[in-house]
Amino acid sequence: MVQGVGFRPFVYRIAVEEGLAGFIGNDTGGVTIEVEGPVERLEAFRRRLQEEAPPLARIDSVAVCELQAGGDAAFHIIASDAAGQASTGIPADAATCVDCLRELLDPSDRRYRYPFLNCTNCGPRFTITHRIPYDRPQTSMARFKMCAACQAEYDDPSNRRFHAQPNACPVCGPRVWLVAPNGAEIPAADPVKATVDRLMAGEIVAIKGIGGFHLAVNAANEAAVMRLRERKHRYGKPLAVMVRDLDAARAICEFVDEEESLLQTVSRPIVLARRRVERGIADCVAPGIPWIGVYLPYAPLQHLLFVDARVKALVMTSANLSEEPIAIDNDEALARLGKIADAFLMHDREILQRCDDSVMALVDGVPQLIRRARGFVPLSVPLPMNAPPLLAVGGHLKSVFALTRGRFAYQSQHLGDLENITGLDFFREALAHMMQTFEIEPEAVVHDLHPGYLSTSWAKEWAAERGLPLIAVQHHHAHIAGCMAEHALDETIGLALDGTGYGTDGTIWGGEVLIARPGGFQRFAHLEPIPLPGGDAAVKEPWRVAFSALRAAGMEPEQAAQLAGAEPEQARIVERMIERKLNAPMTSSLGRLFDAVAAVVLGLRVVDYEAQAAIELEGCAVDEDDGKGRKEYAPELREGEEHGGPHVLRTNHMWEALLGDLRCGEDPRRIAARFHAGVAEGMMNAAASARIETGINRVALSGGCMHNRRLARLLRAVLEEEGFQVFQHSKVSPGDGGLSYGQAAIAAAILNRR
Ligand code: ZN
Ligand code: ZN
Ligand code: FE
Repeated sequence: MVQGVGFRPFVYRIAVEEGLAGFIGNDTGGVTIEVEGPVERLEAFRRRLQEEAPPLARIDSVAVCELQAGGDAAFHIIASDAAGQASTGIPADAATCVDCLRELLDPSDRRYRYPFLNCTNCGPRFTITHRIPYDRPQTSMARFKMCAACQAEYDDPSNRRFHAQPNACPVCGPRVWLVAPNGAEIPAADPVKATVDRLMAGEIVAIKGIGGFHLAVNAANEAAVMRLRERKHRYGKPLAVMVRDLDAARAICEFVDEEESLLQTVSRPIVLARRRVERGIADCVAPGIPWIGVYLPYAPLQHLLFVDARVKALVMTSANLSEEPIAIDNDEALARLGKIADAFLMHDREILQRCDDSVMALVDGVPQLIRRARGFVPLSVPLPMNAPPLLAVGGHLKSVFALTRGRFAYQSQHLGDLENITGLDFFREALAHMMQTFEIEPEAVVHDLHPGYLSTSWAKEWAAERGLPLIAVQHHHAHIAGCMAEHALDETIGLALDGTGYGTDGTIWGGEVLIARPGGFQRFAHLEPIPLPGGDAAVKEPWRVAFSALRAAGMEPEQAAQLAGAEPEQARIVERMIERKLNAPMTSSLGRLFDAVAAVVLGLRVVDYEAQAAIELEGCAVDEDDGKGRKEYAPELREGEEHGGPHVLRTNHMWEALLGDLRCGEDPRRIAARFHAGVAEGMMNAAASARIETGINRVALSGGCMHNRRLARLLRAVLEEEGFQVFQHSKVSPGDGGLSYGQAAIAAAILNRR
């Protein structure tokens, strides 16, 4: 990554310092540098090239060859031409750097309190760029003509703003203003200060950021946060909180290991961390769970909000209604958020690409992407093989597509749920932009096996229009293949622990032990399937799953209904659905088993957001493990019904142990811990059995359940105890956000073999 990050001026500077002559220019593969001078100086240059590279630059490799000295007298930067720059691409958006931050807060600086300052080491990139090459006329800064002072900085190779495309100042650049929900400008001498006053008065303000609008509200104000939830129709799902700096973050969170450094990376993700109790954050910010998503300001405008000492923590959540795409345009924001926000802090630097905040967590010591978006897109993820140009469309929820070229995959930003036309429009818009940005024309299209996914029908149509071949990939194979591709693994035992994915037999899978290769897989074992009465409705109502699971474990309907927290009449309807196999698809999903256990143990009858049951179960579990779970709660591996077919992990003994504990009045938090330990043990046993059959000693962990940090930690521990080599995701999400990367790896393997 050498484009738009100050790489050429950096090279210019070290060449001049070493007294070398020559030039630097861009080409298709990156940059070409020609330098001539004394050997020691050339060697120093080569060393400094890698050691002192600018913060946003990324050097994958350096190739050196000797040339006849040309007798140049000076060092030059050759102007970029539009041809053949595609592979150097566009950088990701980066958080305000320390130098810019200092200027922002310095009353003597000409950019004092200017909300759009940036330099080559920081600022927006991906979200303000139309097309390559990444140059000002191709960005939404094109309409702002630089003033003489800014232009001088831009033209001076020794300046921090040399070729900083979004360079701006109060004289020539974008501005902010405050708007009422009816669209009228609210007069304010300082719109930022006026915004802070409103936030402190408990108002909801929509604030235009880098990748879209945020809805901001004072995180300490319980009533204000509740009002935001009601207006946004988002009742239980945790809200992210932005705080001034690391100290402020420490005041509300107990950080461990590398969590603090994750928080401070230039991509500035939301980091999930354990929250402290009673620290001035309203309870309803993240009800029912012991963590909180916290992040630091990454745009000058956000820093300015926190300059006011009254502002301690702000809920800053994507400005949308439930799972719709984030709003980016001023008029769009007014139209869509007019009933949510009390005021709008707008600006006139257009956002060209919607991009939510990224979310990360430290899982078993490994930084894991839960949502890959701002700050990461469009950075490439390496592939272990050469891939033809492919489009992998991903799944259904938490949709992300991927394009490939050569040994790289380019994943899109998180696109949300592909459940309606708005979602699909965002998908199309992001795809068109990414194809243009990287000049990739797909030669094949990869999609999920699920016939009902919008992404599947869209992929079929799109491929047909272009006469492209289609490749369908099983959901859990794609999960595991993604983990394998990240680590360049060949044959692997894969634990795909997930919510929902369409199986090759037409049932819903999700508790899968696979023997996987990049080009294919065998289903070695799976959790015992149970009916899912009501299909998707059951996902929102865990009591249905609990009732079904208890019935499958041999319990009478009345008792099952009582334990699941079902009304007698509801239970009768669900019982009939199960009996008659009416809208009750079979599922082996681990996510659903978590739902069932949460319904029985925590009394969680219905959920407000995806994976809530599993998150609350994980959140409440006691820290110490007494070992009982491993012995008594582990699903047991049995021969399947079909001879030579997959083994089945039976859960009836687990239920007996769990219900026994419940009857004895055991603490639900201890039962939750035992359940996690039992699942890990059962999965390990299945992997051990697969190892005996295949001799494979590697296990790849993937699927949405791997967001569960407790489960991930326990799985790694028990697997390593048994001598397995364990692999997990770090570059893409283990959930459905990572699916397209795995799909691409599988398709590349299949096409390469052909
Ligand atoms: Zn900067
Ligand atoms: Zn200016
Ligand atoms: Fe999945």
